[in-house]
Formats: sequence, C-alpha cells, structure tokens
Amino acid sequence: MSIASGFISRHTISDPRNSRADLFSVIAKYSEKLTAGEGWPDGVDNLLKELGELLGVSRVWIFQIMKLTDTHIVQDYIFEWSAKPEYRQIGMSRFRMFTNRIGNDEYRNLLESRKRGEWQAVQASKLDSGFLKEDQIKQGIKSMLTVPLFIENQWWGTLGFDDCEREYDWGMEEISLLRIAATVISNAILNNKLKAKKEQFATLQSISDGSLWSLDLNSWHISITSGFLDIDQTPRQSDEFPLRDVLKMTHPEDRKFLLDSFRQGAKSGRYRIRYDTRIKAGEGQYRWVEVIGNAHFDTNGLPTLLAGIAIDIIDRKKEEEKLREAASVDPLTGVMNRRAFATRMEGLIREARDNSQPLSLLMIDIDHFKVVNDRWGHHVGDQVLIHMTAIINKMLRKKDFFARYGGEEFVVILPGVDKELSLQIGDRIRQSVAVSPCVLDEREVAFTISLGCASRNRNEDTSAKGLMLAADAALYQAKKNGRNQICC
Ligand code: GH3
Ligand code: MG
Ligand code: MG
Repeated sequence: MSIASGFISRHTISDPRNSRADLFSVIAKYSEKLTAGEGWPDGVDNLLKELGELLGVSRVWIFQIMKLTDTHIVQDYIFEWSAKPEYRQIGMSRFRMFTNRIGNDEYRNLLESRKRGEWQAVQASKLDSGFLKEDQIKQGIKSMLTVPLFIENQWWGTLGFDDCEREYDWGMEEISLLRIAATVISNAILNNKLKAKKEQFATLQSISDGSLWSLDLNSWHISITSGFLDIDQTPRQSDEFPLRDVLKMTHPEDRKFLLDSFRQGAKSGRYRIRYDTRIKAGEGQYRWVEVIGNAHFDTNGLPTLLAGIAIDIIDRKKEEEKLREAASVDPLTGVMNRRAFATRMEGLIREARDNSQPLSLLMIDIDHFKVVNDRWGHHVGDQVLIHMTAIINKMLRKKDFFARYGGEEFVVILPGVDKELSLQIGDRIRQSVAVSPCVLDEREVAFTISLGCASRNRNEDTSAKGLMLAADAALYQAKKNGRNQICC
C-alpha cells in the first residue's frame, strides 16, 4: 500500500455519528482569533497545540518552502508543538533550512501531490518499502497526515501531524477539518505579509510623495491611500470611492483618457498603465500626477483589479516646461527663436489654407547694425535688439507670431492679413522704430529697420519656403532702395 491522498469531496462530511464537534469548535475558535488579530505567530502556535492535544498525536509541525527546483527542495522547520520533550525536532540542525534531493519518483510524486494541493495520509508499516518508509522509521513515526499550505495560489509550505505511538487511521472528516485549519493558517500568514507590505509602502510613501491606488473591476470602486491625493479629508469607514468621484477631480481634458485607459486595462490581457494626468484634491489646484499600474488576473485569466501607484510629478513637469521653453525662446530678447518659428509657420500656413484666409510674413533687418556695434560696443547692440523687440511686440496682435530669425533679423507672421494691410502694419512698425531711439545712460542710439513683406492670398497655394524666399527678396530690395523702408 502506498500513500493515501486527495482533495475534499462532497461525500467527505457525511457521517454525523463520527462528527468531530470538538475539532470543529477549536478550528472555528481559531478562525475568529486569527482573523481578529491574534495571528502569526502566537495564534498559530496556540492552534497547533490545541489541535495536537485534541488529536492525541505526538507532534504538529509547519515546514516553509524556501526554494523548489526540479532536483532539490529547501525547507525550513518554522513551527512545532510536541506532546513530549523527546518528540521535539525543531531547532535540531538537520531541520534548520534543510535541503532534500528529489532523487526518486516516490518523493517526487509526494511533492507533486502537495503542489497540487492534496493531503497525504501515511501509515509507515503499511507503506511499500522505499525511501518514505525508511524515512518514517528513521524518525520514529508510525502514522502521519500532511496538508499543504497555499498562499496566493502557490504551495507555500506544509502542515504535518506525526504520531509516533499509534498507527492512526485518519478519518475523512478529520482530514476535512484539518484542511480548514490549514486555510486559516494560510490566511494568518497572508495577513501578516500584508501588514508588512503596508508598513513598507507607508515608509516608501513618506519619502516619495506617492499614493497607492487600486481599482476593483467588479464594482469600479477605486481606493487610494492617503498621500498627497486626499480625495476626502474627512475620516471615513472605507478608503474606497466610486471611480466617478476621481473622474470629477480629474482635469476635464484628461478625463476621457483616464477612463479609456482604465477600460482598456479591464479588457485586455497583459496591460500596463502609465500616463500623466492632472488631478485636484479638494478645493486646491490641479497638480500633475503620474499614474502607473498593472492589471491583476483571476485563475481564469480575467482581469479583476488594476493597481499601482500615483506619483506627484510637479517638479518633473516644471523641468519639462523649462526645457521646452529653453528650446523655443531666444534668450536675449525673449521672443521665439528660429526653430519655434519654423514649426509655427507650417501650422499657421496650413490653418490659413484650410480656412481660405490670407496670411502675411514680414522680414525685418536692422540697418547698418554693424556700425552700431562698432561705434558703441556689442553690449549696446544687444540693448538695441531688446529695445526693438519691445517696440514691435507692443504693436502686434495676440495671434501674430514674432521671432528672431538670427542675428539682427526678425520675422513676423500675420495670420488673416493680406498684402495691403501687411504693408500698412509693416510701415507703422518701421516708423515707430525710427522715432524711438534706444536710450542708454543719457545716450541716444537712433536706428532704423528695413522690411520685406510677402503674402499669400485667400486661395493661393504658397508654401512656407516660398513665402520666406519672397520676403527675403523684398527685404533685399528695401536695402537696395536705400533702407528704412518696406518692400513687397
Ligand atoms: P545692413 O543694413 O545691410 O543690414 O547692414 P548690417 O550692418 O546691419 O548687416 P550685417 O549683416 O553686415 O551685420 C549684422 C551685424 O549684426 C553683424 C553682427 O555682429 C551683428 N549681430 C548679430 N547678432 C548680434 C547680437 O546678438 N548682438 C549684437 N550686439 N550684435 C549682433
Ligand atoms: Mg542682416
Ligand atoms: Mg542689418
């Protein structure tokens, strides 16, 4: 005969005459105790003791699996109750983090059975000779029951009952109840692990300005740990909110994206959420938050939960904004640079074409600027550039686009403005500059500008490049004609 093993079936608890009401009540008591707080390790220790005494066995133990490969299993003997001191094994060096080689089929099959979640009952004398029988005899065990402990769907360890005095025949009802005891223990271990996780997260959170969130895909309730994202400052029973409360706090432009990405997470297989969104807590301002998370699946592969972290990224956003600005603004004058101009020009021409609107381009160049530099110094030249951009800036509408094209050359895009009007605007700018010398330390630096102007009419198909060439040619003409003037 070999090992009896199995799962619990419907027929298991069928004989009320053999009912072990005593065992049932001990397990019921501990299921409450372990849930209510007296858990790992003290509650488990007491449970093993009461079970051992009630069953009359010699020893009750728990092994935890530390490592499991195809060839070896490493376990640690972490709990024991023994009826007499001579049955004590915990603490013996051969049971401390002990490694077993999975060297024969008998042992391999036993481990496979545990891995599947089955119980095993053994009476040493009835075993076929082999590895297990030898092992039981060596340990002085006459009968044994083992029940695997599972945590998060994984074989975590084994709960065992050794009898060194009786060839005990385990009844199905006892086995069923002891499996419930194993589940109660598993839950206590899991609770303990969760407590540790919570502490770790609290520590992380305290140094990282982050919150933890999870979205239940059954109820669409979201839970967020109090961090910088306090949804509701008043204390409440539950930390869960309907998702719509969070959507309400989300910036209107980000709402759809947030909801879509949650919906996608609820649908698809492997899914990782990672995006930036603006959320506001209470009456405060919107703040940039990076939301990162993963989907979790049930045993059928269906997503049940999205969970992750939310990080305050205000500093990163400010940095990004600074970089973006630095990449498009001319540091001396504060107007847009040539790179920003190129991008904007394409966009505005497309818009003008789509709406059948005119658009004009002014190219501006300071006259004899080299002379200004030579006479007054480069520093004064710089002040002149700043002075001139201020004058022009004041004269433009909000939708006009002003940029430094390079050196002392500037460009202005005038959306919606045709050739005639652009000539008027350009000439007004020219006059204004001519009568506003740059005053520095009671020194007046008078200067003039020349302008070239090019326009696209309502239905003309002109490219950005074409307009640039035309404006440049017109500017050349203005210079040639004697400067301080505008040409088209
Ligand atoms: P023109 O009327 O034909 O335009 O003559 P110009 O002297 O203005 O033209 P030119 O292209 O010969 O000289 C432009 C000068 O602008 C030369 C350059 O040193 C000066 N310049 C370019 N960028 C800056 C700047 O950022 N600061 C100063 N101070 N000078 C600059
Ligand atoms: Mg020039
Ligand atoms: Mg010049």
